[in-house]
Amino acid sequence: MNRDEALLRELGLWPTVSLLETKILIEGQDAFARPHAVKVTPPSTQPVSHGQSIKPLDAKEERVKETKPEESVKSTGQLTLQERVLSCAACALHATRQHALVGKGNAQADWLVIAESPSTEEDLHNQVAIGSAGEMLANLLNAVGATAFENTYHTYLVKCRPVHNRPPSQEESRACRHHLLEEISHLQPKVIVLLGRTVAKLFLELDLPLTQMRQKSYDFRGVGVVVTQDMGALLRQPSEKAQAWRDFIFAKKILNQCTQRVGSDDTTNT
Ligand code: SF4
Repeated sequence: MNRDEALLRELGLWPTVSLLETKILIEGQDAFARPHAVKVTPPSTQPVSHGQSIKPLDAKEERVKETKPEESVKSTGQLTLQERVLSCAACALHATRQHALVGKGNAQADWLVIAESPSTEEDLHNQVAIGSAGEMLANLLNAVGATAFENTYHTYLVKCRPVHNRPPSQEESRACRHHLLEEISHLQPKVIVLLGRTVAKLFLELDLPLTQMRQKSYDFRGVGVVVTQDMGALLRQPSEKAQAWRDFIFAKKILNQCTQRVGSDDTTNT
């Protein structure tokens, strides 16, 4: 059994989908998964705590990222962000949280994955992307060649868990948005994956059914954004795993397109 087959078996997708399908989807030879770019006008940038504005991402900054030495978000300001998040009381969620969680992963990661909020388990243990949902996410990322926390970064739309795992409200999302924008500005990812309709609705400010948002690429300040199922929902509905896997294949294609675009920009400018 080769590695790809093993990963598909781990996901419970083998032999539902074949390695041939994987190859076809990744190489973009199929019609249904053709990227469909939708421009999203993000809500106005909110000021961060010291009166600075989050800089929009652009191709020039992307090239800067390519050349700067290996460093962690913690060493470039995440500690400050972490401190701000830990002391944040900008919305009612601060009153019921055990912990406030900023993201975790590689500061140079191409992939940024945004979940709704810390789960009960994550909040309790003060750890990002753990438990069955974290394992499911890691398996899906592995299946498209992205190793969790190595070339990915995981964070939350809101950093504090709402009680009883209810979805965050629009007000809570807006109150927490500047923390997320700061992470995006530091990371400069090549693709952003939104886990679930609530995250997509609040991040993109688009009120559409999940089915209508999948297999499309939204532009958020020059970064491709794709939408897939929430991992908790996926655990409750294993029959959805194949579609989620296709979403991650689609995200990989968007990332590849970004990499090629940056490469051709570099060639043009040399
Ligand atoms: Fe602050 Fe975000 Fe926590 Fe609300 S959810 S208290 S805005 S860190």
